[in-house]
Amino acid sequence: MSDDCVFCSIVDGDIPARTVHETDDVLAFLDANPLARGHTLVIPKAHARHVGDLEDDLASALFAAVAELTPRVQSAVDADGANVGINDGEAAGQEVPHVHVHVIPRFDGDGGAPLHAVGGERPDLSDDELDAVADAIAE
Ligand code: 5GP
Ligand code: ZN
Repeated sequence: MSDDCVFCSIVDGDIPARTVHETDDVLAFLDANPLARGHTLVIPKAHARHVGDLEDDLASALFAAVAELTPRVQSAVDADGANVGINDGEAAGQEVPHVHVHVIPRFDGDGGAPLHAVGGERPDLSDDELDAVADAIAE
């Protein structure tokens, strides 16, 4: 629990939310300012700012909930697909500093964009640069 965290307040019941799924470790509720009908947020109940801060078990529980909920959300609003993603860090657009997975239903011809649209200017990387990046991640 973190003071002044809106999602911790939802977990504690101090702020109301339209809960759609709850386990001991994970809570899912409708986004208050949805990008699409059915836009759902899936969070670990324990406060953590970044996805990399999650213990293995909690990361597994979070992804299991996302995998279970994504088709349920889609079918509830008769969607044709969904974008599933995390804004991790301010540079990536994270506004609420408590890990949350967005499940955003998508509809044929809805005018939205794929996740590819979230990046900035595309880098033009040589094979050597790609090798170096891969090595740095794999280390
Ligand atoms: P972020 O930009 O941090 O990835 O997204 C935060 C999301 O949380 C936004 O989509 C915003 O609409 C949602 N949100 C912010 N405050 C509340 C709240 O009090 N209740 C609910 N249900 N959603 C919230
Ligand atoms: Zn929190």
